Amino acid sequence: MAIDGGCLCGKVRYRVSGRLFGADHCHCSMCRRQHGAAFATYADFEPGEFAWISGADLVKIYEAPGGGGWCFCSECGSTLAGTDDGKVTAITLGTVEGDPGVRPEAHIFTGSRAPWHEIHDDLPQFDERPPENWKPPGKNP
Ligand SMILES: [Zn+2]
Ligand SMILES: [Zn+2]
Repeated sequence: MAIDGGCLCGKVRYRVSGRLFGADHCHCSMCRRQHGAAFATYADFEPGEFAWISGADLVKIYEAPGGGGWCFCSECGSTLAGTDDGKVTAITLGTVEGDPGVRPEAHIFTGSRAPWHEIHDDLPQFDERPPENWKPPGKNP
């Protein structure tokens, strides 16, 4: 079952043809600024399973000097996805329509957490990225 999402003004829409996985809350200072929020929530998908289905010409990419970037709607500013080398690598969970079928599994980059925000759940927390081989307990890939 495909997962659809889109921006606030509705002009940009995307579809993930497979399932989402690897959702996490990123507290890094770049994501906080880019979203204007305490943290940003992303989910991954299998390569080749993401496509813009409308408004692709309105999508702008901002790439941070240190690597990593974000896709946003140039009309309304919604952040729709994270990028790596200009390629979409993760979607923002907040832009998914309906239930994305995945739940966040960790807080990452909590070393950069906003001083005014406290984490009140039991998800694992990592100062930076989780170790390469880390898997959330009881979950598959
Ligand atoms: Zn928009
Ligand atoms: Zn981040």
